[in-house]
Amino acid sequence: MQTSPSRTAHWQSLDVHHHMHPFTDHVELANEKPMVIERAEGVYIYDSEGRQLLDGMAGLWCVNVGYGREEIVDAVARQMRQLPFYNTFFKTTTPAALELAHKLSTLTPEGIDYFFFSNSGSEANDTNIRLAQSYWQLLGRPERKVIISRNNAYHGSTIAAASLTGMASMHDIPACPIDGIVHIANPDWYACAQDMTEDEYGLQTAQALEAKVLELGAENIAAFFAEPIQGAGGVIVAPKTYWPEIQRICRKYDILLVVDEVITGFGRTGAWFGAQTFGIQPDLMTLAKGLSSGYLPISASGVSERVAKVLRSKPGRFPHGYTYSGHPAAAAAALKNIEIMERERLVQQVGERTGPCFQNALARLLDHPMVGHVRGHGLMACVVFSPDKTRRAAFNPLGGFATKVRNHCFANGLVTRAVGDGLVFAPPLVITEAQIGELVHKLRKSLDEVLAHGV
Ligand code: PMP
Repeated sequence: MQTSPSRTAHWQSLDVHHHMHPFTDHVELANEKPMVIERAEGVYIYDSEGRQLLDGMAGLWCVNVGYGREEIVDAVARQMRQLPFYNTFFKTTTPAALELAHKLSTLTPEGIDYFFFSNSGSEANDTNIRLAQSYWQLLGRPERKVIISRNNAYHGSTIAAASLTGMASMHDIPACPIDGIVHIANPDWYACAQDMTEDEYGLQTAQALEAKVLELGAENIAAFFAEPIQGAGGVIVAPKTYWPEIQRICRKYDILLVVDEVITGFGRTGAWFGAQTFGIQPDLMTLAKGLSSGYLPISASGVSERVAKVLRSKPGRFPHGYTYSGHPAAAAAALKNIEIMERERLVQQVGERTGPCFQNALARLLDHPMVGHVRGHGLMACVVFSPDKTRRAAFNPLGGFATKVRNHCFANGLVTRAVGDGLVFAPPLVITEAQIGELVHKLRKSLDEVLAHGV
């Protein structure tokens, strides 16, 4: 048998020669070589050299019940033996997809009772665009098709979801953004509003929606898409004045409110969904990631009675779907994942204990000379660095310092991700208070090391 280092070198060589990575600069990667992640247990991942890292990102904001859940493996194996696949296109259905749709209806906000399955968050957002536009079309209002999204939003990587996304780098390809999707300001109080209270700023940014509606004409608008907390954009938590005003505007102008809960869903904010944490009543929801804790790919569009009634009562086919919509093995994984979350009361645990513990432990980093801002909710957070805290100054180049701290975190056995001048965290929901202590200790140590080596 080969020894570990040569196994690692073998995999790294295969990676260089045959593998194209998402969201990666391949020139940079060829020089640095990827870390090969071989196994995982609980909140820890292990690389091919046997190094243990605390996974402060739950995979990619998704492994909510933690790694190594044999029960999910068994549930999937049982399902695959019985029925590995069947489609739901042609007046057929499968028990696993039905049980999952029913289970979801008991957890999602009041009125969200129907579920359309896809395989990824991006696909579920594409589906939601089509559901929203079809709704208006079926009501005889086809001109109501413009979608409003927000700056700095992340909604996915298909051409439509990337167009919904509000990051300039995602629009830097000829296909994007597609027509009919517009963006408004996002409520990033720390970065944008030194001279205003959070509440004032929350109201002002929410009113950007009303201004856009009046500019384009409500009669042309289908829906407003938003994450309850912007995740990949840097865990931007809206001031408390924001969501009530957004809800008011959507109601006043009869605009469908679509909440993208791909990250905030399934306990991340201390409730089953961010919509419940922030008192939002959506017309459509986007669910993925924590739905199956990433054990198999599956996503869903949650559809309200208002939208479902129209789509289900008019004759004619909704011309949309994926081969693997409602895949039985993925649905079985999701069902078992939810059963574990309920049995272990993980959502309550995040809401009452580990969420507040995590936010308080990170907030104590504000005594560090380089930490300018800490924000988050439940088990998602961003720690923002600044070379001059009183002015909330940014680093030049933006993110240079955060990237160094992130590299030291990796070397110290902690996975995190740099976003602008911040580091974002979203550990598995099973993280204990002691492991939260370990995470914050490793972060502070890494920060001190970067400071000691000179900024
Ligand atoms: N919406 C949000 C809020 C996300 O964070 C993501 C992925 N990070 C997506 C959609 C896209 O999901 P996927 O990568 O599964 O397509």
